[in-house]
Amino acid sequence: MTAEQFADRHIGPGPDDERRMLETVGYSSIDELMDAAIPEVIRWHGTLDLPAPAGEREALAELRALAARNTVAVSMIGLGYHGTHTPGVIRRNVLENPAWYTAYTPYQPEISQGRLEALLNFQTMVTDLTGLATANASMLDEGTAAAEAMTLARRAGKSRSTVYVVDADTLPQTISVIASRAEPLGIDVRVLDLDTEELPGEFFGLHLQYPGASGAVREHTGLVEAAHAAGALVTVAADLLALTLLRPPGEIGADIAAGTTQRFGVPMGFGGPHAGYLAVRAGLERMLPGRLVGVSRDADGNPAYRLALQTREQHIRREKATSNICTAQVLLAVMAGMYAVYHGPDGLREIARRTHGMAARLAAGLRAGGVSVTDVAFFDTVTATVPGRAADVVAAAAARQVNLRLVDADRVGISCDETTTEAHLAAVWAAFGVDGVDGEVDEALPAGLARSSDFLTHPVFRSHHSETAMLRYLRRLADFDYALDRGMIPLGSCTMKLNATTEMEAITWPEFAHLHPFAPAEQTAGYRELIGQLEGWLAEVTGYDAVSVQPNAGSQGELAGLLAIRAYHRSRGEGHRDVCLIPSSAHGTNAASAVMAGMRVVVVGCDADGNVDLVDLDAKIDKHRDALAAIMVTYPSTHGVYETGIAQLCAKVHDAGGQVYVDGANLNALVGFAKPGKFGADVSHLNLHKTFCIPHGGGGPGVGPVAVRAHLAPFLPGDPVGARGDGAPAISAARYGSAGILPIPWAYLRMMGASGLARATGVAVLAANYVAARLRQHFPVLYAGNKGLVAHECILDLRPLTKATGVSVDDVAKRLIDYGFHAPTMSFPVAGTLMVEPTESEDLAELDRFCDAMIAIRAEIDKVGSGEWPAGDNPLSNAPHTAAMVSGDQWPHAYPRSVGAYPAGVDRAGKYWPPVRRIDGAYGDRNLVCSCPAPEAFEN
Ligand SMILES: *Cc1c(COP(=O)(O)O)cnc(C)c1O
Repeated sequence: MTAEQFADRHIGPGPDDERRMLETVGYSSIDELMDAAIPEVIRWHGTLDLPAPAGEREALAELRALAARNTVAVSMIGLGYHGTHTPGVIRRNVLENPAWYTAYTPYQPEISQGRLEALLNFQTMVTDLTGLATANASMLDEGTAAAEAMTLARRAGKSRSTVYVVDADTLPQTISVIASRAEPLGIDVRVLDLDTEELPGEFFGLHLQYPGASGAVREHTGLVEAAHAAGALVTVAADLLALTLLRPPGEIGADIAAGTTQRFGVPMGFGGPHAGYLAVRAGLERMLPGRLVGVSRDADGNPAYRLALQTREQHIRREKATSNICTAQVLLAVMAGMYAVYHGPDGLREIARRTHGMAARLAAGLRAGGVSVTDVAFFDTVTATVPGRAADVVAAAAARQVNLRLVDADRVGISCDETTTEAHLAAVWAAFGVDGVDGEVDEALPAGLARSSDFLTHPVFRSHHSETAMLRYLRRLADFDYALDRGMIPLGSCTMKLNATTEMEAITWPEFAHLHPFAPAEQTAGYRELIGQLEGWLAEVTGYDAVSVQPNAGSQGELAGLLAIRAYHRSRGEGHRDVCLIPSSAHGTNAASAVMAGMRVVVVGCDADGNVDLVDLDAKIDKHRDALAAIMVTYPSTHGVYETGIAQLCAKVHDAGGQVYVDGANLNALVGFAKPGKFGADVSHLNLHKTFCIPHGGGGPGVGPVAVRAHLAPFLPGDPVGARGDGAPAISAARYGSAGILPIPWAYLRMMGASGLARATGVAVLAANYVAARLRQHFPVLYAGNKGLVAHECILDLRPLTKATGVSVDDVAKRLIDYGFHAPTMSFPVAGTLMVEPTESEDLAELDRFCDAMIAIRAEIDKVGSGEWPAGDNPLSNAPHTAAMVSGDQWPHAYPRSVGAYPAGVDRAGKYWPPVRRIDGAYGDRNLVCSCPAPEAFEN
């Protein structure tokens, strides 16, 4: 296969398709179209300086060579990252299965019942194990989950104190992330050794680690009571595997539990991605950030799942926002939940016992050899004291291919996990110079903290323990869902393009999957080279000087970028600058991130054409000139238009002393044609899970690198476990964030090269303009820029039709399911509209299938408008139609069954049937149920 051919595979339309699309749009070439669409002030006319594109086999060979430069050692470092066996049936049928990894966030619940059920399993697993009432699905990692717990405690508690107490035996990276989130909010973090130090008189929250980073398992009841007496809320960061044997946080009165589910079958991946978790006691569920899956009912009254308590996201509410989390870690949460389904409660207990048994034997062997081991109860981790010899012991173990944790000059930490073997224990003993012990030893679990309560009692955790049963369960759930493996997902702002198999292949190779984020540098040379190349290529693509891949979602990149701006102003003695201007059309995460960065949000209006209103901008700049920190704009705008005023906007803000943040979520419209770092912006985040082919995973993982010009480079995210005090706060728990999926964008860039990337951008813009041209006479296209052209997406305005006929944007979205489509983005950024982003990967046949469906739906709307079909009983209001509905013995509706089931153009043999009818979200919010319902609920 020649080099150019990967781009031909990635880009859907071939030369003939392209010609026909250009004819419809009215241009003779893509170059001519792009010249007309993109304002000359931002246009960049060069060729990206990237290596010549590699073919698929060549790229894989290069990845093999990089992988070979990583060393997979036995990891006994612990600190929240553990070896784990991903069951093969889960690896192949979830992690490597496009039916799961190419799905979108389940905002359209009727086509997402499979992943919603999987996430409900995850939530049930977390609530059961932690002993708390409600858990979300999911958080980005343990560090950010702990930071969100802190701000939740502040909102929910009665204390007016600004002091947050963190036990010193907390994971160091968690302390780091808590500290960087606390500082802009004026929270005073006190790290105290609670074995010896007193709690302060006033504090609003207390963070405990269970078991501690040292391995110690402490009885926390007294601290919890003392905190409650002070009016503070308590978070326990707990290890879920340990909780199968230990009394859970909910049973000692903790208000919140936070942590990671990594060791439930998700490879370490050099730091991520894994699903963090957050669980709360009853009474706090309506304050929980993140996505919460709940049970509601469909139009027939049958139980059905959907995201609860959020028309979009309850916590992302502009300047009232409490959290910016959007893309989370759905695919990894599905894996962790399935790990619990597959092993069941007995299997998990068995894994925990075995892990503990290894740690107990390890400790006994060390003691027998005269090594002092901390004399406390532990679960899987022990700390050994070897005065002055710790570094030598760690080096001796490394020579035996075992990584231990160097705590300080005198102490070594050793963690066991489900992959620990006798041979590993022998290697550790040898590194310490002791002989070890044979046979069983006594448990070292604290008798008083033994778990007595049952967990995972729901039948789902007891029914799928054979591989056959598990395989079929995974297949059944996947079949409920609509993902990119079935058809187009034309979601504006989300860039649901091809996630090529070749791009995915390397992520499950052991050399990328099984590295601990704190592994010694000499074992991670391949990773660091890959990351360095990727950061360099992204800098070239965006025109910035420096890039950090640490943020593990777009929202986190936003926070990192704004914190860099904040630190920059402070470094120049302008720390008083705290106003962030945000256009009214902005994505909700923008304002939320500004609030989290300690900024005041000031909204700038848009004009009738959807552009940032430069007159209002002037007024807002005048009003806040001395306090202006930044403006945050999306480019092309969230309206899908290349605004011509962008260069002017940047200049105005710079003149007033502010910095320009360009939200790079829409970079798919710019790559190869314009560089934010060159047209006036100071900083951007990118969404590698949009433009650069990391699959959406049903709502994560993501990577949101932050890219900056040179003056902001010193303020990029710091190493969470590196030297502190350099003014660079950590954004996520691991230095390189979700490193484990970086081979995906690496492979995309490597195989596309400069020419392929530019072609992709051109075809993405062509496709959006093609859809706009075909649909314009049926639905008004709301905004357009130069020469009436849109950028890479277009907004279809349904409001006039809704007003005339009562048919809502919701009805159209659900009717599209009957036609075999995932709906476009609904009511963002403008209520009552649909935003369509076809991407370059859809071929003309699929684009036409979509346009034909929309045109047919328009004709259906007209029948409602003309009264031919009653307003309350028509194919739109009843959509989506299930097989059960259209094959029912009764058919009381005003249109034929065939119209409901097989509208024009639908392939009868390949028809996608949603498993439930339209879901009543409000019912579920009034009757909140967020764990697996009893099977009787499904009796019908
Ligand atoms: C997707 C998106 C974001 C948020 O990114 P996440 O990865 O979901 O956190 C921010 N801004 C815009 C315009 C987006 O489309």
